[in-house]
Formats: sequence, C-alpha cells, structure tokens
Amino acid sequence: MSKILERLYLGSYVEAKNQVELKKKGITHIVTVGSELQVLYPGSFKYLYIPAFDLADYELSPYFDQVAEFIHKAIEEENSSILVHCFYGISRSATCVIAYLIKYHQMTSEKAFKFVKSKRSVMNPNDGFVKQLSIYCNKINNREEIKEEEQKIEKGLEVVFEYCCRGCEKILFDEENIVHNKNLSATCLDVYLKYMSWMGQLKNNSSKIVCPNSKCGMVIGYIKREGGKCCCGAHVDKMFAIYPKTLLLKKT
Ligand SMILES: [Zn+2]
Ligand SMILES: [Zn+2]
Repeated sequence: MSKILERLYLGSYVEAKNQVELKKKGITHIVTVGSELQVLYPGSFKYLYIPAFDLADYELSPYFDQVAEFIHKAIEEENSSILVHCFYGISRSATCVIAYLIKYHQMTSEKAFKFVKSKRSVMNPNDGFVKQLSIYCNKINNREEIKEEEQKIEKGLEVVFEYCCRGCEKILFDEENIVHNKNLSATCLDVYLKYMSWMGQLKNNSSKIVCPNSKCGMVIGYIKREGGKCCCGAHVDKMFAIYPKTLLLKKT
C-alpha cells in the first residue's frame, strides 16, 4: 500500500486482506470501494463501503462528500490510520482519495491528481471519474463562496428593509432616514423622518405628507414644523410623521 499522507494509505484488495500488515501499519479504518468486493473484517476495523464499478459512466461523485468526511474524521482520531482500497488501488479508491484532498486540503482536482500520482505512480482514475472530480472541485469552491457571502450577511447587516407606499409600492425611504421609531413600535403611533426632498409640499404650508407618486397621491402622514412629543414621551425636533399603516416593508 502507498502512503499518501501521514495516516492515509491507498492500496489494493490483496493488501486489504493482509491483517498482519494492516495491524503493522496501525490501520484502524478502511474504505472499501467496489461492488464486487466484500467488507472483510468488520469486527476489527471501522469500514465505509462504497459499491462502485470502475466504469467511466458510473456516478461515483454522489459518494465524494461521504468518503471525504469519513477519511477526515478517521485521520483526526487519536492513534488511527486509514486505508482506502478498491481492487487494484488504481482508479476507484484513488478517485476517493483525490476527492478528500479537494475537500479538506483545498487542492484543485489537477493538483490533487498529481499529488496522489507522485505517491502511487500506478494510480490512474478512469476518464469519467476525472471529469466528476473536476466538477466536484468547482462545486466545492462555489459552496465556499456562498458560505462566505452568508457569513458576511450574518455578521454585518441583519435584514434591511425599504419602506414603501402601501398604495402604489413606491419606495419612500429607508432606515437611515428615520429619526424616531425605527422599529415601528406600537407605543409610538407614527414613524418620524428627516426631511425628504419628495416632501415638496412643505413649501406651500400644507401639513399633509402625500405619496410622491402623482398617480397615487395617498396621504401618508403629516408635518409639524415646530416639532413635538411622540406618544412614548420622546421629543422630536421637526416632525415629518408617517402613518405606519400606510407603509409596506420590503426586504432589499
Ligand atoms: Zn403611493
Ligand atoms: Zn416614540
């Protein structure tokens, strides 16, 4: 059997049969890849069995995650070593080891291929498996990118809303424009804004705030230039008050 990494071996069925040699190498876990093969010593080793054929159109990739994780966990255990084998240790088992290197050692499929080849020169996955590994590698990298995006969102902004007119769904303002009652609390009747340029009616002494969409024109609030108190007791300098029930919140 060929040592690929510390505690990770790649080999053949003949080698997987040799209990004495397995014990000598400190093998505790075995991945058996082959529908024609049997799990030999279930009492002595922890097995993962994958019923694969060495055919270019055989879908081995559905097992990649599972086998990569099994290898990873086996290596992490104390005093453990793992043998991954098929019949010759050339195609199916080598493919599984490469999948593991792609997932847990951030290798590209080409690099992982060359790496395993350098440790076991006879290894030679069939063309179909090589393709599946390349697709798997792309998938893993995309998954990482998506994970990073999700983490960014979790860390930074929670969910950001746009506040729209309920009548016509025109976007009116966002959270940054609110001076009081960002949470639309029930104890504060209204939402108080900074002056927004679309509140043009300020100039002609109207005390109403209407939706700036001329086709809509719904009354959505009022203006109190001298300011005043919100019902929660907070003082608001200049009141550009919007009625919460005229608003529609949309996630950006
Ligand atoms: Zn409107
Ligand atoms: Zn209030």
